[in-house]
Amino acid sequence: MLQQVNGHSCGSDAQSPASLREDLQEFLGGEAPLHQLDDLTKVNPVTLETVLRCLQARYMADLFYTNAGCTLVALNPFKPIPQLYTPELMRDYHAALQPQKLKPHIFTVGEQTYRNVKSLIEPVNQSIVVSGESGAGKTWTSRCLMKFYAVVATSPTSGENYKIAERIEQRILNSNPVMEAFGNACTLRNNNSSRFGKFIQLQLNRAQQMTGAAVQTYLLEKTRVACQASSERNFHIFYQICKGASEEERLQWHLPEGATFSWLPNPERTLEEDCFEVTREAMLHLGIDTPSQNNIFKVLAGLLHLGNIWFADSEDEAQPCQLMDDAKCSVRTSASLLQLPVDLLLETLRIRTIRAGKQQQQVFRKPCSRAECDTRRDCLAKLVYARLFDWLVSVINSSICADPNSWTAFIGLLDVYGFESFPDNSLEQLCINYANEKLQQHFVAHYLRAQQEEYAVEGLEWSFVNYQDNQTCLNLIEGSPVSICSLINEECRLNRPSSAAQLQTRIESALAGSPCLGHSKLSREPSFIVVHFAGPVQYHTAGLVEKNKDPVPLELTELLQQSQDPLLIALFPTNPKEKTQEEPSIQGRAPVLTVVSKFKASLEQLLQVLHSTTPHYIRCIKPNSQSQPQTFIQEEVLSQLEACGLVETIHISAAGFPIRVSHQNFVERYALLRRLHPRTSSGLHSPYPTKGPAEQPPHTEEAMLQPLLQDILHTLPTLTQTADTSD
Ligand code: ADP
Ligand code: MG
Repeated sequence: MLQQVNGHSCGSDAQSPASLREDLQEFLGGEAPLHQLDDLTKVNPVTLETVLRCLQARYMADLFYTNAGCTLVALNPFKPIPQLYTPELMRDYHAALQPQKLKPHIFTVGEQTYRNVKSLIEPVNQSIVVSGESGAGKTWTSRCLMKFYAVVATSPTSGENYKIAERIEQRILNSNPVMEAFGNACTLRNNNSSRFGKFIQLQLNRAQQMTGAAVQTYLLEKTRVACQASSERNFHIFYQICKGASEEERLQWHLPEGATFSWLPNPERTLEEDCFEVTREAMLHLGIDTPSQNNIFKVLAGLLHLGNIWFADSEDEAQPCQLMDDAKCSVRTSASLLQLPVDLLLETLRIRTIRAGKQQQQVFRKPCSRAECDTRRDCLAKLVYARLFDWLVSVINSSICADPNSWTAFIGLLDVYGFESFPDNSLEQLCINYANEKLQQHFVAHYLRAQQEEYAVEGLEWSFVNYQDNQTCLNLIEGSPVSICSLINEECRLNRPSSAAQLQTRIESALAGSPCLGHSKLSREPSFIVVHFAGPVQYHTAGLVEKNKDPVPLELTELLQQSQDPLLIALFPTNPKEKTQEEPSIQGRAPVLTVVSKFKASLEQLLQVLHSTTPHYIRCIKPNSQSQPQTFIQEEVLSQLEACGLVETIHISAAGFPIRVSHQNFVERYALLRRLHPRTSSGLHSPYPTKGPAEQPPHTEEAMLQPLLQDILHTLPTLTQTADTSD
């Protein structure tokens, strides 16, 4: 039961805040050792300080999951705890009469979600949003939940049917290693970092059995194919083929032992690269047979050799750049693996075709500078890899999708990159943070509703009038008529040369009125600041427009259409009907589909799906950036609580009723006062301060409680202050 101690109605006479707070905390929170509190809304009062202390105590006691109202906080243990994820435990949570009474776990969320699907009238779609920063455990959590459903949502029937049921669940699970091999990489923050966002819909029939699934991916970081930050690596699959290929395959793919590739940095580390067999096996289960697999790996080897093509500056601008000595062999090998004519490959990399005239009938050819050659080479690799990834996702989908008539509801699992803020932020971070801003808005709307409902059950009147949502920030990013997105798109549409400084000025003048737009006086580079719910982020404007265009020279697509390789023929069809309209061309008319507009469209679609579901939230937290077990760094956790919106949740809680005492606890505490005043004999009355104690006769419990309640009220400003200032 909630007890109202409303911070907004109190005065703030001078008291000793520290001692009062201690008294109060002891009074209110002394009931259980901190680590035993399995819901953060039960810490009293709900402040950042108490929340942090509770999480830390639990982490040290090997308790990694904690409820936070309608959210589950998952701390990454950074050590294997097999007993926490056994099929038996999954079944226990599934069989429990009240799973929410068991220890907090992702299986509680999984089971609650599963039960929610079943409604007496119509099945209700559900979603679980898993968020957190890189390395916090999102993918791990999503994977575990998929395993959970593979165990609990299986058809119990035997015989042929059972096999089919098993196959579909196994296939769905098999999508994980394949997508991770092609879409994950070792980064500074996570050795198995997903470089794409993912939403998977697990489809259930009327009997609550999983009949299929559908995957949607977001924003693959394709630049990684051709460019890796220092100490980071390319996608796992490249290392897997180099390490796992047989003698014969090495010959076929021109990957001799010890070969070095510029796009394969840090090869000495051995991590997920040992999983080649697992990847292959999973691909096989998904219907990608060995010849098709070999075709894929051959193309990937072709890309690795492409990365070893280096150009030298041309002395004569009218002549194409020369190849560096070592590169000559790489061109031949790459062309042969990609089944492209060598001359055409070289020509496309080194010579730009410019079309002019109304019908584009005039064609000029201009040798590229060395830097331009490099860009074209990288662009070619990104183009192939991105298409390959999308193709894989569509193959996976056709392998795991269910007959639309076979399912009636779904559970959606969302695993997307969390809020990001680096020293240098660009379009990628803008998109990611924009997505997080949208998800946060969705979360807050849901959370406020849940809180209001809880108060209604308790018979308390409250409205969150003071709560400021993040609509202002979203207006700045995506609003109409002008926003950051619209201005960046405008630059692409106009196709005018514009400097980074000009873009900054345009953004600053057009959006000057927004309280969420900031300007850094210290920055030497042109930039702007967006004050996100999770904190301010400075975005550099250099390269923003170009990244948003993501231009693909038409000649590159045309080159790939000349390939004799079956996979590349499928990825780059010549039939205009089949041609995908994905990449905007830098030839001809201005690009229509920019990165931002494509992302915005897919985000809106996602939000629409989420809105149609009952959402559940899991916030993953990384207790330290060194990936060490038993290490809890408070500052690091705090900044993540901020970034994943938990601080907001705490603030909202504080805007409502920050102090919640169970009725029983309250009675136990006040029993002492009753003993001091034996004249009061009846059971305790309602302890709500709003009862108007002044009108009551003296010596009632209300009168005796008054000083204590006054204490609480006096202390509240310091408590809310803690919540306000410590973030
Ligand atoms: P994210 O997807 O959020 O970037 P991951 O899910 O890849 O992070 O987790 C990073 C690493 O942390 C995993 O590779 C694993 O080693 C470890 N990890 C995460 N969650 C758990 C867990 N529940 N138990 C044990 N290890 C975990
Ligand atoms: Mg991940």
